[in-house]
Amino acid sequence: MNPHTIFADIVAGRAPVSTVYEDDDVLAFMDIRPFTPGHLLVIPKVQAASLAELDPAVGGKLFQVGQRLAAALRQSEVACDGVNFFLADGVAAGQEVFHVHLHVIPRTSGDGFGLRGRPTSPRRPDLDYLAGSIKGALSRN
Ligand code: 5GP
Repeated sequence: MNPHTIFADIVAGRAPVSTVYEDDDVLAFMDIRPFTPGHLLVIPKVQAASLAELDPAVGGKLFQVGQRLAAALRQSEVACDGVNFFLADGVAAGQEVFHVHLHVIPRTSGDGFGLRGRPTSPRRPDLDYLAGSIKGALSRN
């Protein structure tokens, strides 16, 4: 896969961006097609197409910065009664830009944003079976 993305251009200063936060590892800026006004993206400065490629320490920092941004959104002029974090990892998850990014989405009631998922009702043995499978995979990593 071509590792070049528009976010690499943004990090390099080659593309226009409305920045709200920057440090050595992380950049946060306004999404160009916001789901709601004030929708932000937090990205690592280092190129990482997927979570598997991202240093977990930098991944943790994305969340830390996301927390600060959530607090800032609530105190800013953005209409914000709640916040959703969203991260798409992989095509099947809806990822379109292959440079890891955390969406920080300010919410107000009736803003129209939402996940289109319907909860299911698996039996306990099925939950336990998959829990065992995931635990096994964790122990191998
Ligand atoms: P994904 O579907 O990969 O989770 O989300 C990609 C996000 O990047 C979308 O919300 C889209 O609006 C945003 N985006 C795509 N291109 C640009 C751009 O050039 N600048 C900014 N600020 N956001 C972008």
